[in-house]
Amino acid sequence: MGRIKGIFCLTVAAMLFVLSACGQPTVTESTEQSNTAETAAPTDGGEILYQEGTYQGSAMGNNSDVTVEVTFGSQEIISVTVVSHNETQGISDTPIERIPKEIVEGQTLAVDTVTGATNTSLAILEAVEQCVEQAGGDVEALKQASEQEEVPAQQIELTTDVLILGGGGAGVSAAISAAAEGSEVLVVEKTAALGGNTILSGGGYNAYDAARDLNMQISEQQLQTVDELLDKEPVNEEHEELIETVRKQLDEYRASASETLFDSVELHALQTYDAGDYLGDPELILTFCQRAADGVQWLEDYCGIVWQDELGTMVGGLWPRAHYVEGAKSGQGYFAAFTRTIEENELPVEFLMETRAQELLVEDGRIVGAKATGADGTEYTIRAESGVVLATGGFAANMEMCMKYKPELLPTLKNSNSAAMTGDGIVMAEAIGANLVDMDQIQCFPSSDAYNGSTSGGVGGTLYINKEGVRFVDESARRDVLTAAALEQTDGQFYVIADVNGAGIDENGLNSYGQKVEDLIAQGKVFEADTLGELAEQLELDPEVFTASVERWNEIVASGEDTDFGRVAFTDTAAVLEAPFYASFRSPAVHHTMGGVQVDAETRVMDTEGNVIPGLYAAGEVTGGFHGSNRVGGNAVPDAISNGRAAGLAAAQQR
Ligand SMILES: Cc1cc2nc3c(=O)[nH]c(=O)nc-3n(C[C@H](O)[C@H](O)[C@H](O)COP(=O)(O)OP(=O)(O)OC[C@H]3O[C@@H](n4cnc5c(N)ncnc54)[C@H](O)[C@@H]3O)c2cc1C
Repeated sequence: MGRIKGIFCLTVAAMLFVLSACGQPTVTESTEQSNTAETAAPTDGGEILYQEGTYQGSAMGNNSDVTVEVTFGSQEIISVTVVSHNETQGISDTPIERIPKEIVEGQTLAVDTVTGATNTSLAILEAVEQCVEQAGGDVEALKQASEQEEVPAQQIELTTDVLILGGGGAGVSAAISAAAEGSEVLVVEKTAALGGNTILSGGGYNAYDAARDLNMQISEQQLQTVDELLDKEPVNEEHEELIETVRKQLDEYRASASETLFDSVELHALQTYDAGDYLGDPELILTFCQRAADGVQWLEDYCGIVWQDELGTMVGGLWPRAHYVEGAKSGQGYFAAFTRTIEENELPVEFLMETRAQELLVEDGRIVGAKATGADGTEYTIRAESGVVLATGGFAANMEMCMKYKPELLPTLKNSNSAAMTGDGIVMAEAIGANLVDMDQIQCFPSSDAYNGSTSGGVGGTLYINKEGVRFVDESARRDVLTAAALEQTDGQFYVIADVNGAGIDENGLNSYGQKVEDLIAQGKVFEADTLGELAEQLELDPEVFTASVERWNEIVASGEDTDFGRVAFTDTAAVLEAPFYASFRSPAVHHTMGGVQVDAETRVMDTEGNVIPGLYAAGEVTGGFHGSNRVGGNAVPDAISNGRAAGLAAAQQR
């Protein structure tokens, strides 16, 4: 049985390439680098297959058009170049590198899409197809897969210290912490890129942070929401203790006459417990909030992350404690830092990419490894001498599984997740006797892209306006409240309105996810106008009603008092005053699965009898018990990263 070194499909150096910057141009694959003699070109004697020349084609990817340039000789495809795109950094790199290469090498359009990057893959293939048509080639012939000889699946056995299933936020954090303890680590990742939902995320990381709280102001109305929490009847002893602790902290804070932000680990825990309707496990929640705060420092000191000075409040975030990585779009900043950390510290972490974990291996009641299958059919049996960490994320992209646990969910809802979030880890863990908790607790993101469910696809903004031109909710409410309110509106759709200051468009015309706003406008996802009346016309709203709603909103922001819906906190950029004005077209979509595998505070997986399952740890969205009935916006990234870090450490310490 091989130790992991020397066998791996992807080392950190290669992984860094996968995660390299998404500069728009250019990836070229040409026959100059490939052995054309071995290609399966549909040559037919001296027949001319293509009109020689270079042609361009474009097709819609995930974010916007992917444009390719293809150069043809009379009998072959000489080169394929992706000349421009705006796909997600990290996730799109593999298809952009691999698909042109395979087209040229195989002289074929019968090329497999890349797992986890299907839309980008299909966009490249469609754009190349357009070029073949322009060159007079036979698209159908190129789409015929050549006969492949059946090769029996390879069987490979590996051994490592810590085996991590899933290469998202929890998995890679676990890998780093386990390897920093001196363990040899193998990460098995189903797709071609690391990151999972974490890299797609808005990147907001909620945590108490005494230093950055000093940069923030607080209003008396915000403090009153804490008073209201403290006035609630305790539901159990842990709740009572949390209330008592926060009460003392608040008294001290008020006595100090401070004007900067009041916060603490316990307030974070109390708000999380309350927002989840006391369904979460208070011990897990308090441990998590402490870990999240410690994680701010770990990410800064060990992983080299530079945080922005200001804290934000995410949709349904309830309190300004969201940290954002300086200079990074979405969750990409974490993975740039993680790969750098592994490389610079020469951590013994290896990655088996495009390999799907299928089954946990049990010996004498202990989890000793897993079986996994590679994209090429290779069957792996991997033994873990210290422990296995389950970090495969949630199941929001698996509508069948969502409906199984929550039949009342609207089947027509879209979802915001990576297609890889199919609940594999939960199914594997249940099969070996793990207990599942809160499986019916499924969260929608209230203001997703109305076309595809993604949380991206829009610009910033605070004010929600329905299709009648009217404001309908306190936009700072819990996500379940916002979702229910949005679904009551016409078509379950609405617009988020901003002015130039609130839209958050950077100097390069990109939104906070790195998407080009001009593309989003062309796609009908974002609207831009110089006057409110003009914006209303574009949205097909009554201009008078819409303008009156915006003016009323501006009065509310200016006074800081919302007698219409009771909103208590307003950002500096909430008012809609200065042109150009923007509207983003939004609707709720399935977003986060709050249930999953039950763990204890040490990240150990529990069985249905309430016992620890030896050798098995879990972290991130694959677990349940942290978020109750409603996850606080910005709590999931720290759940993944800080509990992942703890799980890696716990597994490594079994050596
Ligand atoms: C669009 C979007 C925006 C979000 N924004 C925020 C935000 O700003 N702040 C916040 O707190 N939360 C946010 N969330 C939620 C948060 O991103 C996730 O809950 C969190 O990142 C999950 O981390 P994870 O490590 O558990 O899973 P993931 O990061 O999803 O990683 C799981 C990994 O496991 C892999 N995998 C799955 N099955 C297998 C298998 N069988 N074998 C091997 N590998 C497998 C997947 O491919 C994936 O790489 C957002 C979610 C989405 C979808």
